[in-house]
Amino acid sequence: MTLSETLELVRPNIMRLKPYSSARNEFTGGNAILLDANENPYNLWNDDLTVNRYPDPLQREAKLKIAKIKGISPEQIFLGNGSDEAVDLLIRCFCEPLTDSIAIFSPTYGIYSVCADVNNVQVKEFILNNDFSINLQQFFNGISPSTKVVFICSPNNPTGNAQPIGTIEQILSKFRGIVVVDEAYIDFCPEKTSLSLLNRYPNLVVLQTFSKAWAMAGARIGIAFANPKIIATLNKVKFPYNIGVPSLSVLSRAIEQYSNTKSLISQIVSERELLRLRLQQLSCVKMVYPSDSNFLLVKTTDANSVYNYLLNNGIVVRNRTHEPLCNNCLRITVGKPYENSKLIQILNTYRP
Ligand code: PMP
Repeated sequence: MTLSETLELVRPNIMRLKPYSSARNEFTGGNAILLDANENPYNLWNDDLTVNRYPDPLQREAKLKIAKIKGISPEQIFLGNGSDEAVDLLIRCFCEPLTDSIAIFSPTYGIYSVCADVNNVQVKEFILNNDFSINLQQFFNGISPSTKVVFICSPNNPTGNAQPIGTIEQILSKFRGIVVVDEAYIDFCPEKTSLSLLNRYPNLVVLQTFSKAWAMAGARIGIAFANPKIIATLNKVKFPYNIGVPSLSVLSRAIEQYSNTKSLISQIVSERELLRLRLQQLSCVKMVYPSDSNFLLVKTTDANSVYNYLLNNGIVVRNRTHEPLCNNCLRITVGKPYENSKLIQILNTYRP
């Protein structure tokens, strides 16, 4: 799709929308006396952070830093209150309630259909193949011109596998809508990020997050990478101050210590493989699926019973048994070494 064809997908009311603007956006003169936003002038609660002031609505400093480590321009970056915010905004920008639809490949991350439901947008659900790959033929046969956005979760939650970049390109080159590739778990994965496709496909949006590999789930910062025109559309619709001052400060520190994060990621990946081997030896485990993420999908002899046994022993995992292709499956996050050992120890004492 060309850029102008892509922009024709934006809902007309969003195209016409005059966004909320603050006076501070218009002032670029440095140290000013700020009497524009009805803030309290006194910084009472934190000496290091100016929490009495609103944050930069466009998070310019953070975007410069992210742009540098990702090799991308700051205009291609949207920051949201978690990548969940970007999912919601994408649906609101591109899908008319009642008539339009999104496409998802199940089993997958639940927020896509929740956001669609909230916005009264239909969901076309395509079930993954038994090996958790995408059935392209079924997808292209099942969509309609009102299917405006497709969500591809890669690596996929809860199955753990990444989709080959070739599959993503086939969808990008044929689908006449927005292709969202959710890469929340990409840092744990050997498959390449789709970011390299961004300059060739104006209808591509890549989602990443600071909640997983970056160890900042509590800060609530997610990223959408896309063509600057799509980013400008998301910025128009978002609430003005969507990321708080403390979160931006933690982000800044985390980016400065990027190399520590990278070594932590490889530790989690090796711990994942160790946990996989140990789980496979248990009598209540039928199989552990390969994983490109920081969790394992585990087929048990009886998911409900194992889940409750773990819960009664103070270990919380996700029971995915009601999802398509996930009969008797639990999704288990890779924890610290002693947490993983405790999990194995408890599972060893499980009796059906
Ligand atoms: N995408 C996927 C695939 C996820 O599994 C999750 C969190 N479980 C998210 C996005 C949400 O990320 P965030 O914390 O940035 O909203």
